Amino acid sequence: MTKITPQPGIMEIALYVGGASHVEGVSDVVKLSSNENPYGPSQAAIEALRRASFELHRYPPTDHAGLRAAIADIHGLEADNIICGVGSDEVLQFVAQSYAGPGDEVIYTEHGFSMYPILAHAVGATPVKVPEKDRVVDVDAILAACTDKTRIVFIANPANPTGTLLAEDECARLAAGLPEGALLVLDGAYAEFVDGFDGGAALVQARDNVIMTRTFSKIYGLGGLRIGWGYAPRAIIDVLNRVRQPFNLSNVQLGAAEAAVRDVAYTDKCRADNARLRAWLGEALAAHGVESDPSSTNFILARFGSAQEADDCDTYLKSQGIIVRKVAGYGLPHCLRITVGDEPSCRRVAHAIGQFKGGAR
Ligand code: PMP
Repeated sequence: MTKITPQPGIMEIALYVGGASHVEGVSDVVKLSSNENPYGPSQAAIEALRRASFELHRYPPTDHAGLRAAIADIHGLEADNIICGVGSDEVLQFVAQSYAGPGDEVIYTEHGFSMYPILAHAVGATPVKVPEKDRVVDVDAILAACTDKTRIVFIANPANPTGTLLAEDECARLAAGLPEGALLVLDGAYAEFVDGFDGGAALVQARDNVIMTRTFSKIYGLGGLRIGWGYAPRAIIDVLNRVRQPFNLSNVQLGAAEAAVRDVAYTDKCRADNARLRAWLGEALAAHGVESDPSSTNFILARFGSAQEADDCDTYLKSQGIIVRKVAGYGLPHCLRITVGDEPSCRRVAHAIGQFKGGAR
Protein backbone atom coordinates (compact mmCIF):
# COMPACT_ATOMS: atom_id res chain seq x y z
CA MET A 1 0.00 0.00 0.00
CA THR A 2 1.31 3.42 -0.88
CA LYS A 3 0.65 6.07 1.70
CA ILE A 4 -0.40 9.28 -0.02
CA THR A 5 0.46 12.11 2.34
CA PRO A 6 -0.67 15.72 1.99
CA GLN A 7 1.77 18.60 2.28
CA PRO A 8 2.65 19.69 5.84
CA GLY A 9 0.02 21.99 7.31
CA ILE A 10 -2.87 20.88 5.10
CA MET A 11 -4.47 18.66 7.76
CA GLU A 12 -4.24 21.57 10.25
CA ILE A 13 -6.81 23.43 8.19
CA ALA A 14 -10.24 23.57 9.77
CA LEU A 15 -12.78 23.25 6.95
CA TYR A 16 -14.47 26.57 6.21
CA VAL A 17 -18.02 26.55 7.54
CA GLY A 18 -20.36 28.47 5.26
CA GLY A 19 -23.81 29.73 6.16
CA ALA A 20 -26.93 27.63 5.68
CA SER A 21 -29.65 29.18 3.53
CA HIS A 22 -32.66 27.17 4.66
CA VAL A 23 -34.19 25.90 7.87
CA GLU A 24 -35.80 22.46 8.03
CA GLY A 25 -39.56 22.82 8.14
CA VAL A 26 -39.65 26.64 7.79
CA SER A 27 -40.64 28.14 4.44
CA ASP A 28 -40.32 31.91 4.99
CA VAL A 29 -36.62 32.22 5.69
CA VAL A 30 -34.48 35.35 5.85
CA LYS A 31 -30.72 34.86 5.61
CA LEU A 32 -28.73 37.38 7.62
CA SER A 33 -25.60 35.28 7.99
CA SER A 34 -23.28 36.10 5.08
CA ASN A 35 -23.23 39.92 4.92
CA GLU A 36 -24.83 39.95 1.49
CA ASN A 37 -26.43 43.02 -0.06
CA PRO A 38 -30.19 42.50 0.51
CA TYR A 39 -31.05 44.50 -2.63
CA GLY A 40 -28.83 42.46 -4.97
CA PRO A 41 -26.57 43.96 -7.64
CA SER A 42 -27.19 47.12 -9.66
CA GLN A 43 -29.47 46.75 -12.68
CA ALA A 44 -26.56 47.90 -14.87
CA ALA A 45 -24.50 44.93 -13.64
CA ILE A 46 -27.29 42.48 -14.46
CA GLU A 47 -27.64 43.92 -17.97
CA ALA A 48 -23.88 43.79 -18.53
CA LEU A 49 -23.86 40.18 -17.35
CA ARG A 50 -26.59 39.33 -19.85
CA ARG A 51 -24.67 41.02 -22.67
CA ALA A 52 -21.46 39.24 -21.69
CA SER A 53 -23.27 35.89 -21.79
CA PHE A 54 -23.43 36.19 -25.60
CA GLU A 55 -19.63 35.88 -25.59
CA LEU A 56 -19.42 32.56 -23.76
CA HIS A 57 -17.65 30.86 -26.68
CA ARG A 58 -14.82 33.41 -26.41
CA TYR A 59 -11.98 33.18 -23.93
CA PRO A 60 -11.98 36.19 -21.63
CA PRO A 61 -9.15 38.72 -21.73
CA THR A 62 -6.27 37.64 -19.53
CA ASP A 63 -5.28 41.15 -18.50
CA HIS A 64 -8.68 42.32 -17.18
CA ALA A 65 -7.88 45.69 -18.75
CA GLY A 66 -11.50 46.91 -18.88
CA LEU A 67 -12.28 46.09 -15.29
CA ARG A 68 -8.97 47.43 -14.00
CA ALA A 69 -9.52 50.68 -15.91
CA ALA A 70 -13.02 51.04 -14.45
CA ILE A 71 -11.78 50.42 -10.89
CA ALA A 72 -8.90 52.85 -11.41
CA ASP A 73 -11.24 55.47 -12.83
CA ILE A 74 -13.81 55.29 -10.06
CA HIS A 75 -11.37 54.97 -7.15
CA GLY A 76 -8.74 57.38 -8.51
CA LEU A 77 -6.01 54.69 -8.70
CA GLU A 78 -3.52 53.49 -11.31
CA ALA A 79 -4.79 50.53 -13.36
CA ASP A 80 -1.30 48.98 -13.50
CA ASN A 81 -1.33 48.59 -9.72
CA ILE A 82 -4.52 46.52 -9.73
CA ILE A 83 -4.99 42.75 -9.95
CA CYS A 84 -8.35 40.95 -10.17
CA GLY A 85 -9.30 37.59 -8.74
CA VAL A 86 -12.07 35.08 -8.12
CA GLY A 87 -13.35 36.92 -5.07
CA SER A 88 -10.91 38.73 -2.84
CA ASP A 89 -10.24 35.28 -1.38
CA GLU A 90 -8.27 34.45 -4.51
CA VAL A 91 -6.25 37.67 -4.32
CA LEU A 92 -5.44 36.85 -0.68
CA GLN A 93 -4.41 33.40 -1.86
CA PHE A 94 -2.06 34.89 -4.48
CA VAL A 95 -0.42 36.87 -1.68
CA ALA A 96 0.05 33.82 0.56
CA GLN A 97 1.35 31.68 -2.33
CA SER A 98 3.78 34.36 -3.44
CA TYR A 99 5.17 35.55 -0.14
CA ALA A 100 4.94 32.79 2.49
CA GLY A 101 6.08 29.18 2.71
CA PRO A 102 7.40 26.56 5.12
CA GLY A 103 9.23 28.12 8.06
CA ASP A 104 7.56 31.51 7.60
CA GLU A 105 5.06 33.12 9.96
CA VAL A 106 1.78 34.73 8.97
CA ILE A 107 0.15 37.00 11.54
CA TYR A 108 -3.58 37.49 11.96
CA THR A 109 -5.58 38.73 14.92
CA GLU A 110 -7.66 37.11 17.63
CA HIS A 111 -11.04 37.56 15.91
CA GLY A 112 -9.59 37.83 12.40
CA PHE A 113 -11.26 36.46 9.26
CA SER A 114 -11.03 32.66 9.15
CA MET A 115 -9.41 32.52 5.72
CA TYR A 116 -6.11 33.94 7.01
CA PRO A 117 -4.95 30.85 8.97
CA ILE A 118 -6.35 28.62 6.21
CA LEU A 119 -4.21 30.41 3.61
CA ALA A 120 -1.14 30.25 5.84
CA HIS A 121 -1.49 26.50 6.43
CA ALA A 122 -2.18 25.89 2.74
CA VAL A 123 1.28 27.20 1.83
CA GLY A 124 3.00 25.41 4.73
CA ALA A 125 3.55 28.61 6.74
CA THR A 126 2.76 28.99 10.45
CA PRO A 127 -0.24 31.13 11.34
CA VAL A 128 0.36 33.27 14.42
CA LYS A 129 -2.73 34.57 16.24
CA VAL A 130 -2.29 37.88 18.07
CA PRO A 131 -4.68 39.27 20.74
CA GLU A 132 -7.00 42.20 20.03
CA LYS A 133 -7.99 44.96 22.44
CA ASP A 134 -11.74 45.15 23.07
CA ARG A 135 -12.42 43.58 19.66
CA VAL A 136 -10.20 46.07 17.81
CA VAL A 137 -6.89 45.20 16.12
CA ASP A 138 -4.03 46.02 18.51
CA VAL A 139 -1.06 47.40 16.59
CA ASP A 140 1.35 47.13 19.53
CA ALA A 141 0.45 43.46 20.05
CA ILE A 142 1.10 42.75 16.37
CA LEU A 143 4.43 44.57 16.36
CA ALA A 144 5.44 42.67 19.52
CA ALA A 145 4.57 39.35 17.82
CA CYS A 146 6.67 40.05 14.71
CA THR A 147 9.86 38.04 14.27
CA ASP A 148 12.42 37.75 11.51
CA LYS A 149 10.18 34.98 10.11
CA THR A 150 7.12 37.22 9.73
CA ARG A 151 6.20 37.52 6.07
CA ILE A 152 2.55 38.62 6.04
CA VAL A 153 0.22 40.43 8.46
CA PHE A 154 -3.46 40.07 7.52
CA ILE A 155 -5.93 42.62 8.82
CA ALA A 156 -9.49 43.22 7.72
CA ASN A 157 -10.39 46.89 7.96
CA PRO A 158 -13.23 47.23 8.80
CA ALA A 159 -12.97 43.84 10.49
CA ASN A 160 -15.15 40.76 10.20
CA PRO A 161 -16.81 39.59 12.46
CA THR A 162 -16.31 42.47 14.91
CA GLY A 163 -17.29 45.29 12.53
CA THR A 164 -14.67 47.59 14.05
CA LEU A 165 -12.40 50.00 12.17
CA LEU A 166 -8.70 50.56 12.80
CA ALA A 167 -7.81 54.26 12.44
CA GLU A 168 -5.76 55.21 9.38
CA ASP A 169 -2.84 56.49 11.47
CA GLU A 170 -2.75 53.14 13.30
CA CYS A 171 -2.55 51.31 9.95
CA ALA A 172 0.29 53.60 8.96
CA ARG A 173 2.08 52.97 12.28
CA LEU A 174 1.73 49.23 11.73
CA ALA A 175 3.08 49.35 8.18
CA ALA A 176 6.03 51.49 9.29
CA GLY A 177 6.84 49.22 12.24
CA LEU A 178 6.92 45.89 10.41
CA PRO A 179 10.24 44.08 10.12
CA GLU A 180 12.15 44.07 6.85
CA GLY A 181 10.52 41.76 4.33
CA ALA A 182 7.05 41.65 5.95
CA LEU A 183 3.93 42.72 4.08
CA LEU A 184 0.78 44.28 5.51
CA VAL A 185 -2.43 43.15 3.81
CA LEU A 186 -5.36 45.49 4.43
CA ASP A 187 -8.44 43.47 3.54
CA GLY A 188 -11.09 46.03 2.65
CA ALA A 189 -14.00 43.68 1.94
CA TYR A 190 -16.27 46.10 3.83
CA ALA A 191 -14.43 49.36 3.03
CA GLU A 192 -17.25 50.71 0.84
CA PHE A 193 -19.58 50.84 3.83
CA VAL A 194 -17.43 53.54 5.44
CA ASP A 195 -18.20 57.02 4.11
CA GLY A 196 -15.21 58.57 2.33
CA PHE A 197 -12.81 55.73 3.30
CA ASP A 198 -10.15 54.75 0.74
CA GLY A 199 -9.62 51.30 2.28
CA GLY A 200 -5.91 52.01 2.71
CA ALA A 201 -5.18 53.02 -0.91
CA ALA A 202 -3.18 56.09 0.14
CA LEU A 203 -1.06 53.92 2.43
CA VAL A 204 -0.36 51.53 -0.46
CA GLN A 205 0.80 54.53 -2.50
CA ALA A 206 2.99 55.83 0.30
CA ARG A 207 4.82 52.59 1.05
CA ASP A 208 6.25 49.50 -0.60
CA ASN A 209 5.04 46.91 1.94
CA VAL A 210 1.25 47.34 1.86
CA ILE A 211 -1.43 45.59 -0.21
CA MET A 212 -5.14 46.39 -0.17
CA THR A 213 -7.79 43.86 -1.22
CA ARG A 214 -11.42 44.61 -2.11
CA THR A 215 -14.46 42.63 -3.16
CA PHE A 216 -17.59 42.78 -5.30
CA SER A 217 -19.32 40.37 -2.88
CA LYS A 218 -20.55 42.86 -0.31
CA ILE A 219 -21.79 46.34 -1.24
CA TYR A 220 -21.95 45.45 -4.95
CA GLY A 221 -24.21 42.47 -4.24
CA LEU A 222 -22.24 40.08 -6.47
CA GLY A 223 -21.12 37.45 -3.95
CA GLY A 224 -22.53 34.70 -6.17
CA LEU A 225 -20.36 35.77 -9.10
CA ARG A 226 -17.00 35.73 -7.26
CA ILE A 227 -14.94 38.82 -8.13
CA GLY A 228 -12.38 40.70 -6.08
CA TRP A 229 -9.34 42.88 -6.64
CA GLY A 230 -6.12 43.97 -5.06
CA TYR A 231 -4.11 47.20 -5.15
CA ALA A 232 -0.38 47.09 -4.52
CA PRO A 233 2.98 48.50 -5.58
CA ARG A 234 3.83 47.57 -9.20
CA ALA A 235 6.59 45.15 -8.14
CA ILE A 236 4.12 43.17 -6.02
CA ILE A 237 1.44 43.12 -8.75
CA ASP A 238 4.08 41.71 -11.09
CA VAL A 239 4.73 38.87 -8.63
CA LEU A 240 1.05 38.13 -7.97
CA ASN A 241 0.30 37.95 -11.71
CA ARG A 242 2.80 35.09 -12.01
CA VAL A 243 0.72 32.79 -9.79
CA ARG A 244 -2.62 33.91 -11.25
CA GLN A 245 -4.23 31.59 -13.79
CA PRO A 246 -4.46 33.48 -17.09
CA PHE A 247 -8.23 33.05 -17.47
CA ASN A 248 -9.22 33.26 -13.82
CA LEU A 249 -12.17 35.57 -14.49
CA SER A 250 -14.91 34.90 -17.06
CA ASN A 251 -16.42 37.38 -19.52
CA VAL A 252 -19.55 37.37 -17.38
CA GLN A 253 -17.66 38.20 -14.18
CA LEU A 254 -15.65 40.94 -15.85
CA GLY A 255 -18.67 42.53 -17.57
CA ALA A 256 -20.84 42.59 -14.46
CA ALA A 257 -18.07 43.89 -12.19
CA GLU A 258 -17.14 46.69 -14.59
CA ALA A 259 -20.75 47.89 -14.79
CA ALA A 260 -21.18 47.52 -11.02
CA VAL A 261 -18.17 49.62 -10.11
CA ARG A 262 -19.24 52.35 -12.56
CA ASP A 263 -22.76 52.53 -11.07
CA VAL A 264 -21.69 54.87 -8.29
CA ALA A 265 -25.24 56.11 -7.63
CA TYR A 266 -26.34 52.57 -6.77
CA THR A 267 -23.39 52.00 -4.44
CA ASP A 268 -24.07 55.34 -2.73
CA LYS A 269 -27.70 54.38 -2.20
CA CYS A 270 -26.76 50.98 -0.74
CA ARG A 271 -24.24 52.64 1.61
CA ALA A 272 -26.82 55.17 2.83
CA ASP A 273 -29.57 52.55 3.29
CA ASN A 274 -27.15 50.32 5.18
CA ALA A 275 -26.05 53.15 7.50
CA ARG A 276 -29.66 54.09 8.29
CA LEU A 277 -30.83 50.53 8.97
CA ARG A 278 -27.65 49.62 10.86
CA ALA A 279 -28.24 52.51 13.27
CA TRP A 280 -31.88 51.49 13.66
CA LEU A 281 -30.99 47.84 14.29
CA GLY A 282 -28.25 48.70 16.80
CA GLU A 283 -30.70 50.83 18.78
CA ALA A 284 -33.47 48.25 18.57
CA LEU A 285 -31.13 45.55 19.92
CA ALA A 286 -29.88 47.84 22.70
CA ALA A 287 -33.50 48.49 23.69
CA HIS A 288 -33.81 44.72 24.19
CA GLY A 289 -30.63 44.63 26.30
CA VAL A 290 -28.33 43.32 23.54
CA GLU A 291 -25.14 45.38 23.25
CA SER A 292 -23.00 45.90 20.16
CA ASP A 293 -19.94 47.95 19.21
CA PRO A 294 -20.43 50.74 16.64
CA SER A 295 -20.19 48.90 13.31
CA SER A 296 -18.39 50.18 10.22
CA THR A 297 -19.81 47.37 8.07
CA ASN A 298 -23.10 45.86 6.89
CA PHE A 299 -23.44 43.67 9.96
CA ILE A 300 -23.74 44.02 13.72
CA LEU A 301 -21.95 41.85 16.26
CA ALA A 302 -24.62 41.34 18.91
CA ARG A 303 -23.27 40.50 22.38
CA PHE A 304 -25.24 38.25 24.73
CA GLY A 305 -24.77 37.54 28.44
CA SER A 306 -23.21 34.13 27.82
CA ALA A 307 -22.38 31.60 25.13
CA GLN A 308 -25.45 29.64 26.21
CA GLU A 309 -27.71 32.64 25.73
CA ALA A 310 -26.23 33.34 22.28
CA ASP A 311 -26.77 29.67 21.31
CA ASP A 312 -30.34 29.71 22.61
CA CYS A 313 -31.07 32.92 20.74
CA ASP A 314 -29.63 31.45 17.53
CA THR A 315 -31.89 28.41 17.96
CA TYR A 316 -34.93 30.61 18.61
CA LEU A 317 -34.17 32.81 15.58
CA LYS A 318 -33.87 29.70 13.39
CA SER A 319 -37.27 28.51 14.63
CA GLN A 320 -38.59 31.87 13.41
CA GLY A 321 -36.93 31.43 10.00
CA ILE A 322 -34.08 33.86 10.69
CA ILE A 323 -30.54 32.69 9.97
CA VAL A 324 -27.72 34.63 11.63
CA ARG A 325 -24.06 33.66 12.08
CA LYS A 326 -22.62 32.01 15.17
CA VAL A 327 -19.08 33.24 15.69
CA ALA A 328 -17.76 30.91 18.41
CA GLY A 329 -15.11 29.82 15.89
CA TYR A 330 -13.81 33.40 15.94
CA GLY A 331 -13.39 33.34 19.72
CA LEU A 332 -16.73 35.10 20.26
CA PRO A 333 -19.05 32.37 21.62
CA HIS A 334 -21.31 34.90 23.39
CA CYS A 335 -21.97 36.81 20.16
CA LEU A 336 -24.07 36.47 17.02
CA ARG A 337 -23.23 38.30 13.80
CA ILE A 338 -26.32 39.74 12.16
CA THR A 339 -26.26 41.13 8.62
CA VAL A 340 -28.08 44.43 8.14
CA GLY A 341 -30.79 43.32 5.71
CA ASP A 342 -33.58 45.36 4.14
CA GLU A 343 -36.04 47.13 6.41
CA PRO A 344 -38.52 44.24 6.84
CA SER A 345 -35.65 41.86 7.71
CA CYS A 346 -34.23 44.30 10.27
CA ARG A 347 -37.64 44.69 11.87
CA ARG A 348 -38.16 40.94 11.84
CA VAL A 349 -34.86 40.06 13.53
CA ALA A 350 -35.21 42.87 16.10
CA HIS A 351 -38.75 41.74 16.92
CA ALA A 352 -37.67 38.09 17.30
CA ILE A 353 -34.74 39.03 19.56
CA GLY A 354 -37.17 41.10 21.65
CA GLN A 355 -39.42 38.04 21.96
CA PHE A 356 -36.45 35.87 22.91
CA LYS A 357 -35.28 38.36 25.54
CA GLY A 358 -38.86 38.52 26.81
CA GLY A 359 -38.80 34.81 27.53
CA ALA A 360 -39.87 33.15 24.28
CA ARG A 361 -37.89 29.95 23.53
N1 PMP B 1 -12.34 39.27 3.68
C1 PMP B 1 -13.30 39.38 4.59
C2 PMP B 1 -13.01 40.13 5.84
C3 PMP B 1 -14.55 38.79 4.39
O1 PMP B 1 -15.50 38.88 5.31
C4 PMP B 1 -14.77 38.07 3.19
C5 PMP B 1 -16.08 37.41 2.90
N2 PMP B 1 -16.72 36.81 3.93
C6 PMP B 1 -13.73 37.98 2.28
C7 PMP B 1 -12.52 38.60 2.54
C8 PMP B 1 -13.83 37.20 1.01
O2 PMP B 1 -14.77 37.70 0.18
P1 PMP B 1 -14.84 37.30 -1.35
O3 PMP B 1 -13.90 36.17 -1.60
O4 PMP B 1 -16.26 36.96 -1.57
O5 PMP B 1 -14.41 38.53 -2.07
